[in-house]
Amino acid sequence: MSPPTYPPWVVLHIAHDSTVIPDAVRPSFRLSDADLALELERMTDHFTHALFAEPPGEAAVVRAPVSRLVVDVERFADDAQEPMAARGMGAVYQVTSHLAPLRRRLSSPEREALLRAWYHPHHERLEAAVADALERHGRCLVIDGHSFPGTALPYENADPAVRRPDICIGSDPFHTPKALEQAFAEAFGRGGWRVAVNEPFAGALVPASRYRRDRRVTAVMVEVNRDLYLEPGRPAPGPDFTRIATELKRRCAEALASVRD
Ligand SMILES: [Zn+2]
Repeated sequence: MSPPTYPPWVVLHIAHDSTVIPDAVRPSFRLSDADLALELERMTDHFTHALFAEPPGEAAVVRAPVSRLVVDVERFADDAQEPMAARGMGAVYQVTSHLAPLRRRLSSPEREALLRAWYHPHHERLEAAVADALERHGRCLVIDGHSFPGTALPYENADPAVRRPDICIGSDPFHTPKALEQAFAEAFGRGGWRVAVNEPFAGALVPASRYRRDRRVTAVMVEVNRDLYLEPGRPAPGPDFTRIATELKRRCAEALASVRD
């Protein structure tokens, strides 16, 4: 069977799979090498590029080049707009997943410099990929590919008694048509995955210039439970990795085929 592919109007957004901490950024972290490695292990959406975007196809891929601990491209740049900023986890995190200090306090020029180096160029790439899809196809779907730990991290404020799903589909009230949300939930459900919508994580990302303005830009977030594809207790591909990666893309392709005009 040929590998499932996305249509050319899809843009795959991979925000959290990098573990890169640039040398210039490392000294601002208040963690030992061992603690930083542990934090990367906990917070990285390991191998989501491989899960969602390999092998390469017609869909554009926009992948953050640095770890979310450097800047989190999934958050609003402006803390006033970003709900997680109140927890110290806006675009530039102040705290770890365990709510301990992550980095020394940055001046606002230092914060701006980080955003200029790593946040804004990433969003320019996303804007360009979406503009290109609209120009060529008159439509665009941003699939925001993530993963989440099988057990909630302290920063999430999640109820530990709630069992986590295999897959979480995130939607936005403006950019995710109900039929699209349902198509994704049903495609995974038919494959035997335990599906939740907007739980444990909600929302779907679109570029700022289109946000709540341009209905031609649709979006869906797909978040996979890391317990399905990682070795227990360490960030290495587990025995089911290839099967999960293929099945994941197949379910996304099936969902898209069911809503195609
Ligand atoms: Zn993520």
